[in-house]
Amino acid sequence: MTAAPSPSSSSSTPRRLTVMAGPTAVGKGTISANIRARYPEIWLSVSATTRDPRPGEVEGVNYFFVGPTKFHEMVEDGELLEWAVVHGQNSYGTPRAAVEAQLNAGIPALLEIDLQGARQVKESMPDAQFIFLAPPSWEELVRRLVGRGTETKEEQERRLETARVELAAQSEFDHVVINDDIERATDEIISLMGLTPHAN
Ligand code: 5GP
Repeated sequence: MTAAPSPSSSSSTPRRLTVMAGPTAVGKGTISANIRARYPEIWLSVSATTRDPRPGEVEGVNYFFVGPTKFHEMVEDGELLEWAVVHGQNSYGTPRAAVEAQLNAGIPALLEIDLQGARQVKESMPDAQFIFLAPPSWEELVRRLVGRGTETKEEQERRLETARVELAAQSEFDHVVINDDIERATDEIISLMGLTPHAN
């Protein structure tokens, strides 16, 4: 006999859209890269941004690097599912058409965006799953940010200011995943997406 699926068994069904947010330096980028490498069945959204590429970043893979004029046009033309000015500096946004194409094809999609963007997606796509990636502690977050050494002191201060606001909003999310260990946190996110964790 086959039991009809109950609402509580929905964790075995892949969630189609997952939004992951979390403060600076918490490891979102590493986890996204991990997921990209280990789970090719998941589609990762590539955002548009006005910030300059960092060494090693590739156009169309890490971001679509666009100027402010092009970004403004994308906003005006309704091409972005959500967008925000992050850390009071550069604009970032999720191209809408690509997300819709994946979802229409039944492919699970993951967005790695900031709190402001996550709130916008919650308005327009309330059925999405919202995950907050949190550090084990505030001290560890500061250590990771300072340790990676990619930001100036001033930029670090700005990012930590944003991080305080973001950490205070974690209860708005469906799940909080603590990034105490990259592999473990990746597997937890994969499970939350309704997919089966597998080895590298
Ligand atoms: P970074 O400049 O370090 O790559 O990213 C800075 C912040 O921008 C991160 O918190 C990241 O999650 C966020 N971000 C990246 N893409 C998007 C996007 O498309 N929309 C929004 N709202 N935030 C984004």
